[in-house]
Amino acid sequence: MAKIQMKTPLVEMDGDEMTRVIWKQIKDIVILPFVDLKSEYYDLGLPNRDATNDQVTIDSANRTKELGVAVKCATITPNAQRMTEYNLHEMWKSPNGTIRAMLDGTVFRSPILVKGINPFVSCWKKPITIARHAYGDVYRNSEIRVEGASKAELVVTYPDGKEVRKEIFEFKDAGIIQGIHNTDKSIAAFARSCFMYALDVKQSLWFATKDTISKTYDHRFKDIFAEIYENEFKARFEAAGIEYFYTLIDDAVARIMRSEGGIVWACKNYDGDVMSDMLASACGSLAMMTSVLVSPEGVYEYEAAHGTVTRHYYKYLNGEATSTNPMATLFAWSGALRKRAQLDDLPDLEAFADKLEEASVKTIEEGTITGDLKNLIDIPEKNVVNTEDFLKAIAEKL
Ligand code: NAP
Ligand code: MG
Repeated sequence: MAKIQMKTPLVEMDGDEMTRVIWKQIKDIVILPFVDLKSEYYDLGLPNRDATNDQVTIDSANRTKELGVAVKCATITPNAQRMTEYNLHEMWKSPNGTIRAMLDGTVFRSPILVKGINPFVSCWKKPITIARHAYGDVYRNSEIRVEGASKAELVVTYPDGKEVRKEIFEFKDAGIIQGIHNTDKSIAAFARSCFMYALDVKQSLWFATKDTISKTYDHRFKDIFAEIYENEFKARFEAAGIEYFYTLIDDAVARIMRSEGGIVWACKNYDGDVMSDMLASACGSLAMMTSVLVSPEGVYEYEAAHGTVTRHYYKYLNGEATSTNPMATLFAWSGALRKRAQLDDLPDLEAFADKLEEASVKTIEEGTITGDLKNLIDIPEKNVVNTEDFLKAIAEKL
């Protein structure tokens, strides 16, 4: 069989621990036998990040900006314990954080739905994608514990000396205050990434804030979204038959619970943090959540939502067969290949990405599964296999 050809290479970012093992298995078992893979390889595994003073992460992000599509394996974000384990020079920053900052992108997460794993919300028939604004608000706050009677004020000082002051509260006794911020630039980048992604997947976009209460702060989010929609996306949304819908956050939550899914839900930073954990657990497993970072210029980086699955890796190192679920990482590959195919106009490659996803979903639905799905899936016969045999079953179907 002739292998499917590619034009532009993918930026391939390898990673750590169990997912690094799975990365190679996915390539060897379900991709390389079918596709004449073109990729530019960057080793983001912790030893190489340490050896290159993290330059490899920066290089891979820069190359992603040039080529347009990357696929990334999960990576360790070092903490004190990793410093000794890997004998590191420095406690390197999270690669995801570095890449996200360089691409100024937004992360979109959605569950992989299969028959037999029913979302706890019974009306959800199609995946719901959550886009979390990854900058500012409470995550970049400044807080003060107020010790007693005092007056708290907001003060903004401009370079020309102009000052704006506003009272927050007259404390009669002890309490707390918090200052938060966001920028027009970051909100606009977030909005553009969301409109772009919704057009891409041809699903309507919902956005919600609490602008009735937060008449300046949250209202600014609403206005920026509305302005960008009117000026840049409205015509394209109408042509694609999708809509942009704004509502209050509490109304959005109520409506999501009654919807059938198939929506992209843009969330402010805190809402996205909370709602993505809700969505992931309502849909079953972190191992079935995909994740893609989209920049406002339309650069894409695909990955799994889970980490490097450390606990399984130590078992693997002990020679035990592990049954780690490769679905989210596999969907990162199929997502990246599909996007590459669309950009380079390669219908065979696009069809391959579709078939790879269909074959893997079917493998699960017909009962061949990894250990994490055993108590989650409701099907008559379950055949729990290790990761390699699971991938081989997919390849067979493919
Ligand atoms: P994790 O790797 O997501 O794993 C947490 C637990 O979730 C696992 O122990 C496992 O449960 C289950 N799990 C996750 N993915 C699974 C899969 N594919 N198949 C089967 N079970 C799966 O999170 P973590 O243990 O908190 O973090 C480990 C490392 O990953 C850390 O160094 C962290 O910095 C890094 N991390 C990286 C990223 C990223 O690169 N995007 C994201 C998050 C964390 P059981 O053990 O019960 O089977
Ligand atoms: Mg969270």
